[in-house]
Amino acid sequence: MKDTQSKRTSPVELPCNECTAGIMHSRPVTYFTWLGEELIMVPNFPAWVCDLCGKREYDERAVSMLSMLLNPEAGKPTRRIPRPRRVEPRKGNIPRPRSTDR
Ligand SMILES: [Zn+2]
Repeated sequence: MKDTQSKRTSPVELPCNECTAGIMHSRPVTYFTWLGEELIMVPNFPAWVCDLCGKREYDERAVSMLSMLLNPEAGKPTRRIPRPRRVEPRKGNIPRPRSTDR
């Protein structure tokens, strides 16, 4: 995975498929998505913005990666289940209620 520098040779420009005249430029935007009832905001999300009509298209790979991250059904056991911590009382340190039925 050392291809960060080798991809610099080709300029990243795509023709806009909305107005067909503009050019889509790679630009970080803020990505909004709903996860259940929560609005998720992802700043600096890789996207393509047309310089003519302003159409936004989010980077497909980034979107699929993000949806994988956000989807709890993605198969990864990364869900945090809050476990109630039980504080075990030390034996012998806690005064027991005296039983009177001797
Ligand atoms: Zn356009």
